[in-house]
Amino acid sequence: MPVNNKPWGLRVNMTYPVPTFQKLLFWERRWTTSKQAQETRSWGKMSITDVLSADDIAAALQECQDPDTFEPQKFFQTSGLSKMSASQVKDVFRFIDNDQSGYLDEEELKFFLQKFESSARELTESETKSLMAAADNDGDGKIGADEFQEMVHS
Ligand code: CA
Repeated sequence: MPVNNKPWGLRVNMTYPVPTFQKLLFWERRWTTSKQAQETRSWGKMSITDVLSADDIAAALQECQDPDTFEPQKFFQTSGLSKMSASQVKDVFRFIDNDQSGYLDEEELKFFLQKFESSARELTESETKSLMAAADNDGDGKIGADEFQEMVHS
């Protein structure tokens, strides 16, 4: 009977070669590169003016600078959101959803205008409620990306 005197570890190494150091480096680099790409795609270092014109945002905020004059459809038109594609609008939603929960609740909606320009005013309670009502199709008290996009394009 043939006797295998090789230590178990060595046999394993012969069957399944362990990654070389170069390969490990390559994997590490690939992982790092894709991570960096994700960060570039995320909103971390971006501002809303990368997708909407600063002038259009300023005009949209101008139209609703007085309390209780915010009209969602007018704002979406003037700011340029309405003419963006569905996927672009969802990107904007992800930017607005700064805790990345996937939803905007009433508390976040209060600061809706400030997502576009930090010096903008807060929405009044009735503006917040009507914005919620305009988007919250399933009535769960939160606005998801799809609901937001449907409201913008409605
Ligand atoms: Ca909802």
